[in-house]
Amino acid sequence: MRPSPTLPDYAAACASFSWRDARTWLPAMPGGGINIAHAALDRHLDTPTAEQTAIRFLPRDGAAVDISYRELAERANRFANLLASLGLEPGDGVYCLAHRTPDLYAAALGTLKLGGVFTPLFSAFGPEPIRSRVEIGTPVVIVTTERLYRRKLAGWLHRMPSVKQVLLIGEVAEAPPGTLAVEPALAAQSPDYPTRSMEPEAPALLHFTSGTTGRPKGALHVHEAVVAHHITGYYALDLHPGDIYWCTADPGWVTGTSYGIIAPFTNGVTLVVDEEEFDAERWYRILEEQRVAVWYTAPTAIRMLMKVGPELARRHDLSSLRFLASVGEPLNPEAVHWGRATLGLPFHDNWWQTETGGIMIANFASMPIKPGSMGRPVPGIEAGVARRTDSGIELIEDPDETGELVLKAPWPSMFRGYLHEEARYRQCFAGAWYLTGDLARRDAEGYFWFIGRADDVIKSAGHLIGPFEVESVLMEHPAVAEAGVIGIPDEIAGETVKAFVSLKPGHAPDEALRREILGLARQRLGPAVAPRQVEFRERLPSTRSGKIMRRLLRARELGLPEGDTSTLEGGFE
Ligand code: ATP
Ligand code: MG
Repeated sequence: MRPSPTLPDYAAACASFSWRDARTWLPAMPGGGINIAHAALDRHLDTPTAEQTAIRFLPRDGAAVDISYRELAERANRFANLLASLGLEPGDGVYCLAHRTPDLYAAALGTLKLGGVFTPLFSAFGPEPIRSRVEIGTPVVIVTTERLYRRKLAGWLHRMPSVKQVLLIGEVAEAPPGTLAVEPALAAQSPDYPTRSMEPEAPALLHFTSGTTGRPKGALHVHEAVVAHHITGYYALDLHPGDIYWCTADPGWVTGTSYGIIAPFTNGVTLVVDEEEFDAERWYRILEEQRVAVWYTAPTAIRMLMKVGPELARRHDLSSLRFLASVGEPLNPEAVHWGRATLGLPFHDNWWQTETGGIMIANFASMPIKPGSMGRPVPGIEAGVARRTDSGIELIEDPDETGELVLKAPWPSMFRGYLHEEARYRQCFAGAWYLTGDLARRDAEGYFWFIGRADDVIKSAGHLIGPFEVESVLMEHPAVAEAGVIGIPDEIAGETVKAFVSLKPGHAPDEALRREILGLARQRLGPAVAPRQVEFRERLPSTRSGKIMRRLLRARELGLPEGDTSTLEGGFE
């Protein structure tokens, strides 16, 4: 039987919600403190959840491996003991550069148990983005694998004075000098560890932003964030205890930590962890064979599935699916319709940022979806649309007016600083409001609609044009796989709209198709908003986390400096 949605009465939940009460959703720790790892693991240990599968690990090849909550807690305890034996102190940084294997999860939770500050790094990063993040965050310990160490760290890590220890997880043929193989070291450690009771404001996680608009920033989060992870996992992802849940985001990004490690475990679900990268056939097989109920993925993955076509999906039994959600980029209405037609369920878009630490705006299971809308604020979150003024901001109360999306601070998972960039952090606030840097509008029913990043918005002949709106229309054309839209300077209009488009297999980038796409855009958007030019591209530049980098399209088009490209997909392998 399908469980009923977790937020049956949105208005009532919003009216009665307080973050202070929300804290009591998670049992207090002995001593009254808080620890993300306690909320994720320890609290389950004297309940039946202890024997439930916490992680179902799908190795690249071979059979699935089940790890219970008890086993995961013991493994994390051994890890915490190992870190303690190496002299790690609360507040010290632990970076993890590793593929998705159970050891990564034990390392993350073991670090948190001890009070260390955990930073995940995407394992496909090249040496340079890793080096710059180590320089900014000054970790004491780096957890990685032998292969990644030799390929990406060995050449320069000895020059980083903060790093005292390199721990190698997975198989180690021969630990290079200055590194320690974790497997034998863990065996010598006790499976018991008294999780440290932390102050709610104690630092817990350091996450780097995706670098879509420039150099990535290090956003610091605290232990109390877990209250928001837990509640948003429940409300916005509809996580019920015992659900089979698959988050396709890599823990190298904030989504893969907040909703790929923390929220699933605090909510007592079984987390599917796939070691392999995207492959349409494999993904449908996982959904079918693992009987996934809740699936959290991203527009870039959905677009890739759409590109492959619906036939593959139809060959699989996807009847276990109950709730589909998407985050990271605007979700074009076309993708919502496609979900409905092909998977039998719509995708529920939700919006948040590295800085917000957790989902802020969502299409909840209990409410009707408006395709193209990000949804409504999570209970406990006050969101507004504002205009910047000389003295701060002015809230826009009228519906359907475009302005900057702002959020009333604080909430538990709000970032507490950009590392070493205090002034930049302060600039993100106007009084009690956090300024997101994204533009949106709110309709009369309180649904929020993403317009674009403030930097990406196009001003043409007096119109404010959001790239998302234009891209969504281009995506309606059956030949279009991806679209990125920018403004290019124009003497008369100020800017005109130019579109970059990649095509689905079987379509030729010729003049007839260009005219057809331009025609569709003109018909749907009108001549003032439709692109003047469409250029075909094999693929569009995107960050490794899958976001289209419009700033790079613009820089390349206009011959401007490209800025930081260390997170560009398709760089170092
Ligand atoms: P940087 O801040 O370094 O430029 P980034 O903003 O891409 O990188 P993230 O924190 O990973 O780094 O991404 C958050 C941003 O992603 C949001 O501010 C928004 O622009 C975009 N985003 C996330 N979810 C959605 C969504 N559902 N709809 C539209 N945009 C989204
Ligand atoms: Mg950002």
